[in-house]
Amino acid sequence: MSVPELLPWLNGDWGALWGHPGGLPHALLLAGPAGVGKREFAEAVAMRLLCEQAANASRACGECDSCRWFASGNHPDFRRLIPEADVEEIESDEAPPKAEKSDKKKSSQILVGQVRALSDFVYVGSHRARGRVIIVQPAEAMNPSAANSLLKILEEPPATVYFILVSDSYRRLLPTIRSRCRMLPMSRPDAQSASDWLAGRQADASKLLGVSGGMPLRALALVEQGWGKLVAALQAALGDVDQDEMSLASAWEALLKNVEVFAMEDLITLLQEWLSDLISRQIAGRARFFADAEAIHRRLLTRTSIPALFHCYNQLQTARPLANHPLNPRLFLEDLAARYLATFATPRPTR
Ligand SMILES: [Zn+2]
Repeated sequence: MSVPELLPWLNGDWGALWGHPGGLPHALLLAGPAGVGKREFAEAVAMRLLCEQAANASRACGECDSCRWFASGNHPDFRRLIPEADVEEIESDEAPPKAEKSDKKKSSQILVGQVRALSDFVYVGSHRARGRVIIVQPAEAMNPSAANSLLKILEEPPATVYFILVSDSYRRLLPTIRSRCRMLPMSRPDAQSASDWLAGRQADASKLLGVSGGMPLRALALVEQGWGKLVAALQAALGDVDQDEMSLASAWEALLKNVEVFAMEDLITLLQEWLSDLISRQIAGRARFFADAEAIHRRLLTRTSIPALFHCYNQLQTARPLANHPLNPRLFLEDLAARYLATFATPRPTR
């Protein structure tokens, strides 16, 4: 596995890591948005660290016993600290979903017991001579006691133990943890390299780059979760502003029901992105999230005004905290639909 080949936009980060004059730190913090490739990068670093033949900064050999164990998920000197709720997803080798459906049985936190359970691994010698590697992912999932427990290890790390913390939102980490890590912010791909990369894998995913924040691995995950059809259906529903709120709410309800990894909060996010596109289409002539909806955007813009769009955007922001547990989901959707449709009933200012 080679990061430069897999994810070309991380090439520079890879070189910077191995070329650092201080060598590799005991605790590395990979920071960046979901879908930029942090997990793949972390695994490539771990594999390279454990490889028994890699002599320089380039890559793991992929052929030694260590590399083979790593690839099969059985390396005795490698651990992954993840929330219980993510275990299945990680094992099925899929990129993280946009928002998880809640599953009350499994914790979405990394718990203190999981960190304590590492102590034998950390403090007893390694199986092979190369050292031991622990990926903590996502690091912000550690609850405060887990984080404090990890901090104790990071304060006096054994010589050949390497922690790789992976975080979508590193500001949520304890400052004391952050200060023990060397942070490597992951470089984002530019629009061209993101869509080039996707073109060779899953061309449909290119259409989802906008709603993925330009992150190709996230777009890939979303297309596998049925978001291609979802976004097309949503665009069509939002383009019809002559329907009543019941029918728009029904369209949303159907999407929420039929697409597994699509929650009410995601709907609000997409609606806000849609409104933000209308605003920037009007002001700057381009859209960021739904780039291929230009015809619909242009038509809708003849029916509304910038202040009305901002007003609706703010109303959605106010509704967001209620999105995960609305008292009555159907009424909640109808209310959102009514507010959205009202935005396009406003006559355009003539002055
Ligand atoms: Zn190797």
